[in-house]
Amino acid sequence: MPQNRKLLVTSALPYANGPIHIGHLVEYIQTDVWVRYQRLRGHSCTYVCADDTHGTPIMLKAEQEGVTPEALIGRVGQEHARDFADFAISFDYFGSTHCPENEKLAQDVYERSRRGGHITTRVVEQAFDPVKNLFLPDRFIKGTCPRCHSPDQYGDSCEVCGATYAPADLENPVSALSGVTPITKSSEHHFFRLADFASSLRAFTEAGSLQPEAANKLREWLDTGLTDWDISRDAPYFGFSIPGAPDKFFYVWLDAPIGYIATLWRLLNIRTGRALSLEQARAAWGEYEIHHFIGKDILYFHALFWPAMLEAAGLARPRAIHVHGFLTVNGKKMSKSRGTFITAREYLEHLPAEYLRYYLAAKLGSHIEDIDLNFDDFRARINADLVGKLVNIASRCAQLLTRFADGRLADQLPDMPLFHEFIAAGNAIGEHYERREYSRAVKLIMELADRANRYVDEARPWEMGRDPQKRMALRGICTQALNLFRILMAYLQPILPVTAARVATWLCAIDLTFESVHAPLVGHTIAPYEHLMRRIEDKDLAWIGAPANGASQARPKVAQAAAEEQAPAATTPASPTIGIADFSRVDLRVAAVVDAQLVEEADKLLRLTLDLGDGRPRIVFAGIRRAYDPQTLIGRHVICVANLAPRKMRFGVSEGMVLAAGDGQDIFLLGADAGARPGMQVR
Ligand SMILES: [Zn+2]
Repeated sequence: MPQNRKLLVTSALPYANGPIHIGHLVEYIQTDVWVRYQRLRGHSCTYVCADDTHGTPIMLKAEQEGVTPEALIGRVGQEHARDFADFAISFDYFGSTHCPENEKLAQDVYERSRRGGHITTRVVEQAFDPVKNLFLPDRFIKGTCPRCHSPDQYGDSCEVCGATYAPADLENPVSALSGVTPITKSSEHHFFRLADFASSLRAFTEAGSLQPEAANKLREWLDTGLTDWDISRDAPYFGFSIPGAPDKFFYVWLDAPIGYIATLWRLLNIRTGRALSLEQARAAWGEYEIHHFIGKDILYFHALFWPAMLEAAGLARPRAIHVHGFLTVNGKKMSKSRGTFITAREYLEHLPAEYLRYYLAAKLGSHIEDIDLNFDDFRARINADLVGKLVNIASRCAQLLTRFADGRLADQLPDMPLFHEFIAAGNAIGEHYERREYSRAVKLIMELADRANRYVDEARPWEMGRDPQKRMALRGICTQALNLFRILMAYLQPILPVTAARVATWLCAIDLTFESVHAPLVGHTIAPYEHLMRRIEDKDLAWIGAPANGASQARPKVAQAAAEEQAPAATTPASPTIGIADFSRVDLRVAAVVDAQLVEEADKLLRLTLDLGDGRPRIVFAGIRRAYDPQTLIGRHVICVANLAPRKMRFGVSEGMVLAAGDGQDIFLLGADAGARPGMQVR
């Protein structure tokens, strides 16, 4: 690898007729992680994308909404840009294929192909809707399957028996637009002679630019033989007109990938502050190491048509095309009726973007297999990895440091070998990012997080706060742990850029890179810890699987009756009267929570370490797990029954009880107002 690469990276262009959904996000997140990794390593990495805005579906959708296609793509473009920004997708520029630069380039590519003898024309017979006055794409013709005779099937394939066929083979075909029987009409079409490029496409296939599975697929296609590609469509069509061919337009798939170059062109105009010429834009394209990220469904377009077009136009080819599989949700294809067709916006209304970034990264490899988003697994993984392991290191140690050591880091680390072990792991983690083996990078990082937690568990800094003799040791242990945490956040920065930036600010560390963490962070005072991430609870996922139209409010009758029966039980009758002597037998104290941990195999309990001001930390098991994230408890004051006889439980001895209000459903911990100190009596 050259020391400083000049990379141009693209994700496939989303079609501007609908919202971004979580299936799309696999690609943008996969690309963005790679882009951020390259930038983190000091490479120049330009990331561009654009809305794909042309074609019959957009023209018809605009007509349906009673707006112009320009108005439709303008609105959708803004929605897409906002979704991508909220998922921290770091485009240098997000444009639109409907721009003058793209029109110039599309015509230029066409002209050069034509002059090279790679364009041919011939008359084609095609289905035509005489009411709408429109040639019908296959998807807009419906009829009865010629093989299994199922009614209401599309013009290209049967969803019942899986047969593929031409629209002309359908029985009783009708236009999906008007319902009338299409007529056959002939028209002259322009074709790109793909077979002219067969040998160079074969060389491209063997050049290592593709994953082995993708290269195999290409070999199959090349062996079968390449046919001419129909690149024209008749008016009315929303797109760019073909020069010298009245009422003919470029098929949307011709100008879509050219949009990569047009978007770069527009970005360079902005960067240089002047309008580059077509020649300058063409030359600029050739200066980059180009990487396309795409889904497996558009491999043919990107690995055959696109390199052939580039060659015909005398433009540089991509260095690599990276193909990914599809996303399934809970093991099945995303579906509106199952409530698993989840848009980016719906997801963001309920859950943080970085949770999806992390989950997908933890599953993504360099292969083309589909990946599954199982929401039970999603919750378990986020809660265990990000909250339970990663953030746990920081929240425990930062709060101890602030409380007992003025928040000031030690002047040196007590365990340099452990620190170097973490630094050394950076090479392997970086290699995995480079090869898009994110799941392997995540696995290594989480093994290190386990190691850091083990270090803290063994050192037990929470037992040292009350003893002034041990405060130096506490400071050292917390400094060590926070440095390990900082290294992990640098490694996770491509996946969790927002949290990484917050951590950098919080630790007063200017930047967080693979290299900057080589110098330990010592000797300065850190800002008070702020909560970084929260656990995913039942309620955060309750919306998934709800029908997409939101119409079904009808709960099953049985559940409804049960809920109504429960309602009156909310107020518990008052207990019998007692005297003041009875009350004063209970020794209630203000206590500070110095540590809070989940208890394995006990899903209701948290294991609290309490400071009652007597220098002897106490362990109390509290049944509040359902209502409280352990992270949020550390440092806060609770009220503890200090003279309760110790109780032996399956997980250890509980030396007291914390007070909480509750109605059997919700739980609310009691505390003391600001100024109260641990050990104060409650009377
Ligand atoms: Zn069929």
